[in-house]
Amino acid sequence: MTDATLACDTCEAWTQFIQYVKDRTSATAYGNWLAPIKVVNFALDEVTLEIPNVFVQDYLLANYKKDLCAFLPVKATGEPAIKFVIATQTKKAVASLIAPVKPVVAATTSNDYEVNLNPNYRFDTFIEGPTNQFVKSAAMGVASRPGMSYNPLFIHGGVGLGKTHILHSIGHYICENNKKLRVQCITTEAFINELVDNLRNKSIDRMKRFYRSDVDVLLVDDIQFLQNRLNFEEEFCNTFETLINQKKQIVITSDKPPSQLKLSERMIARMEWGLVAHVGMPELETRVAILKHKAQQKGLDIPSNIAFFIAEHICNNVRQLEGAVNRLSAHCRLMNLTITEDLVQKSLREMLQHAPNQKISVEQILKSVAAVFQVRVSDLKGTTRTKEVALPRQVAMYLAWKWINESLQMLGASFGKTHSTILHACKSIEKKIADDDTLRRQINMVERSISSDSR
Ligand code: ADP
Ligand code: MG
Repeated sequence: MTDATLACDTCEAWTQFIQYVKDRTSATAYGNWLAPIKVVNFALDEVTLEIPNVFVQDYLLANYKKDLCAFLPVKATGEPAIKFVIATQTKKAVASLIAPVKPVVAATTSNDYEVNLNPNYRFDTFIEGPTNQFVKSAAMGVASRPGMSYNPLFIHGGVGLGKTHILHSIGHYICENNKKLRVQCITTEAFINELVDNLRNKSIDRMKRFYRSDVDVLLVDDIQFLQNRLNFEEEFCNTFETLINQKKQIVITSDKPPSQLKLSERMIARMEWGLVAHVGMPELETRVAILKHKAQQKGLDIPSNIAFFIAEHICNNVRQLEGAVNRLSAHCRLMNLTITEDLVQKSLREMLQHAPNQKISVEQILKSVAAVFQVRVSDLKGTTRTKEVALPRQVAMYLAWKWINESLQMLGASFGKTHSTILHACKSIEKKIADDDTLRRQINMVERSISSDSR
């Protein structure tokens, strides 16, 4: 296994993130902010992104920090582990700095209204348990008889609990079973962007016409973003009323119930007209089932005890469970290892809810390794290749990687080595530990001494 394998996994995580965002934003916002981002480097614990200007970084962090954390490596501080580099300022880059928002090209093509549904978000991939059964049934009810049962259906619950998944499932179901119906799925942010674009282009009437007469089913994600957007609230409200009066189905998701949203009474009343359904965090058994399902999709076989271990530790966000599976699968492939509890602990260190081991330094590790292996710190730092020194040096690199939340590059720099030397050391020690009891005991001793040191 090589760096390239890992790079592929991180690369895949980035592609998934981009796909995820693409599904939730307007084509304009996507083109302005996300399309120009280039990935220039993947390390074990860090992604380097090249951006045209600092606004893109701000936009990304302001709007997608949580999602970035769910898809990409995370630092011990909880921040996404991303290094931003600004592209060398060619004429084009300077131009985009001055005018970050591109002029909108005639927004009249039918492409604008393509159904934007994530192909993975379907009823049959949504695992149900006691906390989400009700909402799934309500959603299936609406999908099988759009406009005839609950209208609107209002789904609320915390971040990463499957609201968007359910919303898109409704879309897929209707598209497949009721081909005549025109489904429009849009995030509130995208709707607002679209309104702004159309106002600017004086094509607002066309947009109103589209939403009020061409759409049969309107799926609106994250309505909480309508709060404090007074000018847009009215347009939303009018659209809702027109559609509902024509018995067109509306489904809305939100992170709060209607009554807790800072919106006008009129808007809240409209949203409470139909059925308000809550989606909660799945309990342990369901989390295990979700985990196994997501792992299976990635071709990863997670033993039950490990699935329980992860599900017990990640207990407030399904997206994080998914992130755990991605990370674990990258790690397993990198090291070519089978999954053990130890491996899980290591590769999911930042995600599991333990206090981060921030205080440990490379120096401390070198000192403890030197003491246990009876060599000098200066030898560990040197270049001597004798077995007596080379093995403890590799152990120090392995432990630094295990305990210090830094990229391979950074760790390499602390040892005066390249990141591939560190990676090689880690792989080699992981393999040796598996069948060398003495080495395992020695490493345990070093770890005990480090943790008593850092208390
Ligand atoms: P929300 O919109 O509530 O923030 P999402 O719908 O984006 O959450 O869900 C986050 C991730 O978790 C998605 O990849 C989704 O497929 C997954 N997920 C959430 N709940 C479930 C579930 N019950 N079964 C399967 N996957 C789920
Ligand atoms: Mg969502």
